[in-house]
Amino acid sequence: MLILRLLNVVAPAYFVSISLVTFVLQLFLFLPSMLEDPSATPLFSPALLHGGLFLFLSANALGNYILVIRTSPEDPGTCGNVAAGGAGPGAGRAEGARKPGAHFCRLCSRATLRHDHHCFFTGNCIGSRNMRNFIMFCLYTSLACLYSTVAGAAYISTVLSISFAHPLAFLTLLPHSISQFFSGAVLGSEMFVILMLYLWFGIGLACAGFCCHQLLLILRGQTRHQVRKGVIVRARPWRRNLQEVFGKRWLLGLLIPVLNVGSEYHQQKDK
Ligand SMILES: [Zn+2]
Repeated sequence: MLILRLLNVVAPAYFVSISLVTFVLQLFLFLPSMLEDPSATPLFSPALLHGGLFLFLSANALGNYILVIRTSPEDPGTCGNVAAGGAGPGAGRAEGARKPGAHFCRLCSRATLRHDHHCFFTGNCIGSRNMRNFIMFCLYTSLACLYSTVAGAAYISTVLSISFAHPLAFLTLLPHSISQFFSGAVLGSEMFVILMLYLWFGIGLACAGFCCHQLLLILRGQTRHQVRKGVIVRARPWRRNLQEVFGKRWLLGLLIPVLNVGSEYHQQKDK
């Protein structure tokens, strides 16, 4: 339990550190190198397009990250308490934790309805209320990391005169640059960017894989918790499963980080 609590602190710190390093590299290294391009036109300069795209991806990733943290999954204890006419928070919570689909998370110290999993990077449980923001967080983190890999590779290609045209160039970059770093041909800052390329690429692929698996579970109407426990769910149309998580304002949620107020879950709550 102590290790899990430690992970609950270390993982968000790791995410914030990587985000800060990425921002610094993008704003102070990659963008200035693009401004030096003499062939660029002022209106559609690569620096302006690059800056706009990176800000869009990172604003969505960070915005959804904050929304996942701020929006806790519904507490069945609260519902149970209201239904019982105010029998006391402890009684309602204990009763709520026994409801089907509810799970008590020892790290968050609360039971949640339609519990999916506890996310260590956000330090919060993922459930019906914050699932859409969590999916968007994974998607935009993946895109921001993969985009940073491309921007970083373009920067390294310019400063070290390396071509990435060969399919194996990315794989052989690290061993070659390590030997060149120790011989003094590659600067410390350039070596740091090369290491970050692999980190961004790894995080980008991991987030994309996680996002795809999560979407597959949503289409099936399952939660990760149900899969782990071997719970068989009643088959429902995939459109309904999608609407339950993404709500009616799904297109707006794809473009900007907003709360999922149009989902079936919130409609049921309002009744
Ligand atoms: Zn939790």
